[in-house]
Amino acid sequence: MQSAKNNAATEINWEALLVEAVSKPGRVLEAYHLFHSFSIGNAIWALVQCDVRKIQPGPLNTFSGWKKLNRHVKKGERAIRLVMPITCKRKEENKDGEEEESNYTRFVIRPNWFVLSQTEGEEVAAEVEIPEWNAERALAELNINRVSYESMNGNAQGYAEPGRKIAISPIAALPYKTTFHEMAHVVLGHTEEGGLSDDELTPRSLMEAEAESVAMLCCESLGLPGAEFSRAYIQNWLNGSAIPEKSAQKIFSAAHKILKAGQENEKSGNEQAA
Ligand SMILES: [Zn+2]
Repeated sequence: MQSAKNNAATEINWEALLVEAVSKPGRVLEAYHLFHSFSIGNAIWALVQCDVRKIQPGPLNTFSGWKKLNRHVKKGERAIRLVMPITCKRKEENKDGEEEESNYTRFVIRPNWFVLSQTEGEEVAAEVEIPEWNAERALAELNINRVSYESMNGNAQGYAEPGRKIAISPIAALPYKTTFHEMAHVVLGHTEEGGLSDDELTPRSLMEAEAESVAMLCCESLGLPGAEFSRAYIQNWLNGSAIPEKSAQKIFSAAHKILKAGQENEKSGNEQAA
């Protein structure tokens, strides 16, 4: 039987993490710098856990990971919890009525990590470098095509179209922010429902709030200009409505995909997706 306790979807409050990111400028940047090899959702969650428990945030590793570095977890320290993807198998009947096994990914919470300050032992090597992020690499990795901008609307900054296409106005005020925003529309699956044009007249739909939230997480993680504009937009939006939990989860997942796709040094092993 599946244990509800291990079901990430019911235990993490993604909406609260998003509000944390929106309401505290600098929070996302700090989380990304500290925990950049983890997903941005996990990074912010780890930072929040450190804060609540008054632990000095720093490099994260597992119990055995610290052991390999000749350090050990201090007595009485409680582990940091993060979301991990696990691959499960399920049996389904195919169209011929035969049973077939397929894989699917489920997210679970695991209390497996400790920050440096919860451990003692041998000095650890200086900090690992934060990988460079490259827009062209991210677009290629996510199979998104940048097409030339052909809008007659003078206010539009960019748009996303079916067929995983995005176009950014050559005179976009904040090209990075607009690029993240349009990539988000594609990654979030919005373009499958038709083209989107972004200008001041676009209704403040949930899709826009989702795409703008992804843009904020990406801009701030990478220290690129535009995060403050996204933040203001989302704060304004949150005045009238709430971001549903499902949307918040999708936002963190999309931001993680975009950030990871553009990282120069690909990581593996201890990666967390959420
Ligand atoms: Zn949009």
